[in-house]
Amino acid sequence: MSDKNELEKTIEYALRGTPELKPEEKRKWLGEFRERVLLGLTKEQVRKTEAYHVVKTALQDPMAEMLILNGNIPMEINSKYMRLAKEMNREYKSIATDFSEAMGLIVASRQAVDREDVTPEIKEMPAKFKNTTHKELCSDCYQELESVAPEATEEFKKLNFLGKMIGLYCGACERDKDGGPLM
Ligand SMILES: [Zn+2]
Repeated sequence: MSDKNELEKTIEYALRGTPELKPEEKRKWLGEFRERVLLGLTKEQVRKTEAYHVVKTALQDPMAEMLILNGNIPMEINSKYMRLAKEMNREYKSIATDFSEAMGLIVASRQAVDREDVTPEIKEMPAKFKNTTHKELCSDCYQELESVAPEATEEFKKLNFLGKMIGLYCGACERDKDGGPLM
């Protein structure tokens, strides 16, 4: 702790300017320095369901200490990520900001990690996996889904040889085979 009194500090700040470093950068990264960030998603990306496993993977990083959310993101989305952070024993908070360039969510460390690429693209789940009536997938489709949205595979089963023998088919790439759910 510094032993300067409040008056001395005030004078020093008045002479040298505010002591805060890189204020613009910190506004963008929800109060953190860019060098501490492991993952940053835009406000648009945070809303995508596919972002969930990207955030989960980032929180598994041993350097990941906290999750910070932009307070402008709808509560039902923010609370989903807060729950995730809590489950994974990471700190989390939501901060109020009116800065239009601010990220939607970041995962950060308390020290510099100097990661290069912290803003990945969020791949969207292909339309063929949405609103499927048949919950079996051929192995190609299953793998494809696993790479884009691993959580989504929970509602599907991988179609095996026996399944094919009894006439089951892939709910994604063969979804129109018999015209839908009447079978
Ligand atoms: Zn398929």
